[in-house]
Amino acid sequence: MAVHFVKMGVLPYGPAPSDEVSALKLIEICGRTAYKSEDKITDTSAKSFVLMLKSHGHLSVLEHSNIVLKVEPVPGADPAGENRPLSYEWVLESLKDRLGFHRIFPLGPGGASGCILAGNIRAWLETLRYLRACEPAGFRFFAAQFHRFFPNLFEPAPESGDPLPHAASLMTEQDQLGLLKRDPALDLPVFVFRFVCDRGITHEVVRHRVLSFTQESTRYVNYKNKGMVLIVPEEVAGFHDEKAGALTGDDPLAQMWRDRAERLFDWYREDLARGLRPETARDILPNLLKSEIFVSGRFSGWKHFVLLRDSSHAHPRIRFLAREVRKYFEQMGLPIAENG
Ligand SMILES: Cc1cc2nc3c(=O)[nH]c(=O)nc-3n(C[C@H](O)[C@H](O)[C@H](O)COP(=O)(O)OP(=O)(O)OC[C@H]3O[C@@H](n4cnc5c(N)ncnc54)[C@H](O)[C@@H]3O)c2cc1C
Repeated sequence: MAVHFVKMGVLPYGPAPSDEVSALKLIEICGRTAYKSEDKITDTSAKSFVLMLKSHGHLSVLEHSNIVLKVEPVPGADPAGENRPLSYEWVLESLKDRLGFHRIFPLGPGGASGCILAGNIRAWLETLRYLRACEPAGFRFFAAQFHRFFPNLFEPAPESGDPLPHAASLMTEQDQLGLLKRDPALDLPVFVFRFVCDRGITHEVVRHRVLSFTQESTRYVNYKNKGMVLIVPEEVAGFHDEKAGALTGDDPLAQMWRDRAERLFDWYREDLARGLRPETARDILPNLLKSEIFVSGRFSGWKHFVLLRDSSHAHPRIRFLAREVRKYFEQMGLPIAENG
């Protein structure tokens, strides 16, 4: 069968993992969704795949991640002396052009006990580049920490200079979640979801700029052999046979949708047959085309998404996604009130 019909779906992946091995695996799953090459995933494929993305500058996929560091002064070190460069104020001042990509919280009054810094891998890679140019001491410190915790993705720090008298530890996703539940301002974890929806709805989802996205590509995916997959239109949901992935029965409406879909797919295949590339042949594919998209973000971003999209003003299909996201957070003990 050339055309399939499937239901929408929401798959929560939970908080982004805090260890490198799991982080690489998750990024690989997200990245391979774009090319539909999930069949190439093996036990050892993640590292080379993610390093390939990094070397090609395809860094947006590395946003489906989170590194949270707790930085504290070493006991006994002089806070007015060597400690100063890494005080909470120093961090705010030094990262000033990069603050929008991070969450930074003071520990103790005025940050006297250090701070917690969060960012996804892309943000940290680019922040390190920024620090290298303007804050060599801070760069050395952070580069050393990131290389310690994520040795495959972050290069070793330069040897020169005295180490700064601070200790950094990696905060686990469970610890991040515990802090967020205690205080919603401590917006530390990054939550990752996979949506299966139609192309029209992914276009609405990607308008939420504070979230991160990796989406199935109609440029690189050739549907000729796999068949074209559409989301079931609501008006014929009653005729959907989920197991067969088809609209069944003699109802004229179901027949109409089957005919339309087959005709469109015939045109797509004809265009490929006359030598067009998938990126051009896709012009005829409908808005209803099934698309998989990974979406990641912190609780504040998701809360905004739910408040705007779980609404009677929103399209019913994005509303479905927003309701599933709302349910997930409710189950996590993070309810989103109707009025925000
Ligand atoms: C019912 C409904 C109907 C819609 N209809 C249309 C339509 O007809 N046409 C259309 O084009 N779009 C439409 N949209 C999309 C809408 O305009 C937004 O693009 C989308 O909802 C994302 O919202 P946002 O910008 O608040 O969220 P995000 O992009 O996730 O931003 C979250 C928050 O970050 C801040 N922020 C992010 N970027 C900036 C920035 N550059 N400057 C200042 N603050 C920023 C703001 O505080 C914002 O609230 C519709 C949305 C809804 C819910």
